[in-house]
Amino acid sequence: MEPMKKKHMTEEEIALKKSEIARRRKHQSIQRAEQDKMDTINRLLKKQTTKRRPKDQEDTDSVHNDSNSSSVLPPSSFHYVNNAEGATLSIPTGVEVPIRFEKGPKYPPPVPNCAFPGCNVPKRYRSVKTFEYACSMDHLHKLESKG
Ligand SMILES: [Zn+2]
Repeated sequence: MEPMKKKHMTEEEIALKKSEIARRRKHQSIQRAEQDKMDTINRLLKKQTTKRRPKDQEDTDSVHNDSNSSSVLPPSSFHYVNNAEGATLSIPTGVEVPIRFEKGPKYPPPVPNCAFPGCNVPKRYRSVKTFEYACSMDHLHKLESKG
């Protein structure tokens, strides 16, 4: 047995080994390039996936926002909002208030007109006899005297 001799490689063996290493390296670099490509694709896919399933993200975000807003606005306080969509009042839970908000401006109840035929002037008087409306004392007397 000559171990030293066995370790010694011939020129041919060395060349073979070198070419083998080179081949393997090339193969590895190709594999690495392929892996890079796959990584890029996966990254792009993952981006799309996170875009396509924002629910989890949104849920956590909304919860986060809720906790944020609640820290700014304690639930034990009234919160009044008046915007283009109308007025809303957030009432703390446990508080029962018969508050009713009517949308739009409030108009005064329509004033009935004078009951005298042909007279469309809003009433100012009401007869205690006929309970009819009249715009003036003149029409009131005429209304009362007609019947
Ligand atoms: Zn009148």
